[in-house]
Amino acid sequence: MGNLKRGWSIWTLIILVAVGFLLTRVYLNHNFQVNAVNNTINQSKNEHINRAIAKEPPRETVIRNTKDLKLEKGLFHKKQEQAIAWRKQHERIQISVTQPTAASASAAAEPTTNTTEPEAAEPTATTTEPNANTTEPDATQPAAGATASSQQQEKDAKPASSGEPNVPPVKPDTQKTIYLTFDDGPSAYSAQIIALLEKFHYKATFFMIDGNIRRYPDAAKLMVRSGETVGLHSVSHNPKIFYASAASIIGELTQNRQTLKEITGVDSYIMRTPYGSVPYMTPEYRKAVQDNGYLMWDWNIDSRDWDYKDSRYVTSVIEQINQMVHHSGPIVVLMHERKETLANLPKLLDYLSKNGWSSKAIDRSMTPVQFRT
Ligand SMILES: [Zn+2]
Repeated sequence: MGNLKRGWSIWTLIILVAVGFLLTRVYLNHNFQVNAVNNTINQSKNEHINRAIAKEPPRETVIRNTKDLKLEKGLFHKKQEQAIAWRKQHERIQISVTQPTAASASAAAEPTTNTTEPEAAEPTATTTEPNANTTEPDATQPAAGATASSQQQEKDAKPASSGEPNVPPVKPDTQKTIYLTFDDGPSAYSAQIIALLEKFHYKATFFMIDGNIRRYPDAAKLMVRSGETVGLHSVSHNPKIFYASAASIIGELTQNRQTLKEITGVDSYIMRTPYGSVPYMTPEYRKAVQDNGYLMWDWNIDSRDWDYKDSRYVTSVIEQINQMVHHSGPIVVLMHERKETLANLPKLLDYLSKNGWSSKAIDRSMTPVQFRT
């Protein structure tokens, strides 16, 4: 009996040890597998991210090739702020250096202007053709003679709207003219912007980005039909790419122009460079642009609609207009084809209309308003 009992105990012990060993193995095995799976998941995740990073094109490419508006807006803000800051700084230096006496200097970024006024009811004329016009885009030349010169006898494009010209709803003797310009379109808001302008018998100028013309071809066509001026505003809208060389500038403008012509039939040489000409346009670039027949327009009232994103841009424009009442030469307002701009546009147009302003589209006979260099 004693032997039997001892045998039992030994066997029980052996079995327990065996079971214990087995359980430990199973546990370790399982644990090892889970870790292995997790590792491969993490690894593939990392690989995925790494691949994405490696594959991700430069930001500017993303902007050009996608509709990543958020990204574009971010970049836009930065560039715009930089350009404005540079111009302000430059302006201050210039005023203190070159004009120590006459500390007049109205408004910021005051461009050299001319006296060229399109007069006469609505020059329906939309840009078109370089037609060897001598209109001098060179900032320092008032180009008094250019006014009457060779006019803008555009022959092509200018469908419809030729019948009944607009009659601004204000008395002719008190009439003041302003040039509203909208950049970066066409957009989903173009049609509504145009409808509003028409309500007030106003015309405007649209500086458009190549890709957006393709994205919203109907909007671009509508602009032409409505008698707005259509202008160019680059392909990349990226300072690094656009201003890389004279060749890149002319290349983008040419593509932009061809696209516009293909879609609307208008061959426009009126243009605005991304973020304005200063500080980017070197004398060499200016010459290239001029030699190729382009008319480069900046502005003298910056609505900062892209920054305010609400009705404050209207207040700002009105304030600036009032500071420029005695300004000779075109008053050019920079706005953008944005939702918030559209939302507050009635307020601005209403103010302008009630205060005797008419709004016209830029045309080729005018000497461009440009920032001082
Ligand atoms: Zn722009």
